Amino acid sequence: MMEPESSLGAVREKIAAAARIARRKDSDITLIAISKTKPVAEIEPLIAQGQRVFGENRVQEAQAKWPELKARYPDIELHLVGQLQSNKAEDAVALFDAIHSVDRPSLVTALAKAMDKLGRRIPCFVQVNIGAEEQKGGCAVADLPALLAQVREAGLPLAGLMCVPPADIEAAPFFALLAKLAADNGLSGLSMGMSGDFETAITLGATHIRVGSALFGARD
Ligand SMILES: *Cc1c(COP(=O)(O)O)cnc(C)c1O
Repeated sequence: MMEPESSLGAVREKIAAAARIARRKDSDITLIAISKTKPVAEIEPLIAQGQRVFGENRVQEAQAKWPELKARYPDIELHLVGQLQSNKAEDAVALFDAIHSVDRPSLVTALAKAMDKLGRRIPCFVQVNIGAEEQKGGCAVADLPALLAQVREAGLPLAGLMCVPPADIEAAPFFALLAKLAADNGLSGLSMGMSGDFETAITLGATHIRVGSALFGARD
C-alpha cells in the first residue's frame, strides 16, 4: 500500500478502515477539522486538499480567522465545539454553521433568541458531561431529558448529542453510553471522537468526529 501523502489523507484512510470494520459507509461520517490555535496559513492547505468542514472552540478566535475564508470558500461549514457564553450566542449564530456545546437552559434561551433575531437556524448538538467530571462542560446525564425537551420546545434544530470523555482512560464505554442516550431520545447525530480515539468512536456510531492534532500537528 502507498503511504498517504498528507495527514488529511492518513486520517481519511483511517476513517474508511474503521467504517469498513463497523460495516458503515464512510460518507455517513463527517470529519470536522479542529483548527483552534492554528493560523489561516496552516488551514488553507487543508482547504486546498478539499476539506470543507472545520471547527473552532472560541468565538473570538473564529471571528478573527474565518469571515474572510468563508467569503472566499462559500461551501465551508464552521462548527463551534467549545463552551459558549450566553452573551456570545448572537455572535456564534452569525458566524457558525453548527454548535456542539449546548449544555444548559440559559444557553438554549439565548440561542433561540439569537436565531429568531438573525432569522438563521443552525443545527445544535447537546453536550453531555458523559464522565460526570466537575470541570467539564456538558449537561449531567440526569438533566438530559429536560434539556432536550426545552431545545425542542424552543425550536432549535436538534442534530444530536456530543461528548468529550475523560482523558487518559478508555473512551469506548463513554461513547457507547452517549450512543445509548441518543437512541433512547430518538436522536441520530453523535459528535464524538478526537485524534486519539476517532476510530473507536466510529465503530460505536459517531456521525461527526472532531480531529485536531492528527491533522494539524500538536498544539502549543
Ligand atoms: C481541541 C478539541 C478537539 C480536537 O482535539 P484533538 O485531540 O487535537 O484531535 C475535539 N473536540 C473538542 C471539543 C476540542 O476542544
